[in-house]
Amino acid sequence: MPYRFLADVWPIVCRLPQLIPSTCALCSSEGCNLLCTACEQRFFTQPCPRCPQCGLQTNAADQHRACGHCLKTLPDYDATIVATDYVAPIDQAILALKFGHRLAIAPLLARLLHDALLRTPNLALPDVLIAVPLSPQRLAERGFNQSLEIARPLARATGMLLDTHLLQRTRDTAMQTSLPLAERQRNMRHAFVPDARSVERIRGRHIAVLDDVLTTGSTLNAIAGVLKRHGAQRVTNLVVARTPAR
Ligand SMILES: [Zn+2]
Ligand SMILES: [Zn+2]
Repeated sequence: MPYRFLADVWPIVCRLPQLIPSTCALCSSEGCNLLCTACEQRFFTQPCPRCPQCGLQTNAADQHRACGHCLKTLPDYDATIVATDYVAPIDQAILALKFGHRLAIAPLLARLLHDALLRTPNLALPDVLIAVPLSPQRLAERGFNQSLEIARPLARATGMLLDTHLLQRTRDTAMQTSLPLAERQRNMRHAFVPDARSVERIRGRHIAVLDDVLTTGSTLNAIAGVLKRHGAQRVTNLVVARTPAR
């Protein structure tokens, strides 16, 4: 019997170094809790000027004005708060969370996003926080929603109310990358549906929508559109990493 027990626990013992965070998630240096001081200083203590609406980097002179793209396309969301750009090494940390199942990285990303919130001038804290939902199929494949894992500690740290059932995702968008943008946006518009009982929780509220990565903004725009059509007063995107302009 003891041999059987050992056989059962041995795989867990082997994975312990991965389960207990002791190395920097960005540079793998040892002896720190997920983020070393050098990486913290290098990547997260010098916020850059960004478009307040979509989070794209801008010139310092334009940082309180919407960028040219937002002026042209008029997104449905009102603001975007970004922790950092989607570049090395944070991209690797996000991939490790998403596809390497390193769930211990989620609280670190939540902390970076919390710091970005605290840096935002005249911030009105949203009433409700939601994570971009995954489709049931994608959720079953991955086993967890990385954005929700980041949203949980962020809600605890800020006092925002985390609502995990406000919107449902009826279809995935990854398969649509080959489609032209207009068609993708049309498809996306029907991908998010509010829960039948959630309409009352949307009307008149300032809602924060958390996503790990923002690239074109079409997913977040589709969600903001649904929330606004159901009476949301304001929608603020909370994004860990923003893909820089090409
Ligand atoms: Zn480091
Ligand atoms: Zn913009």
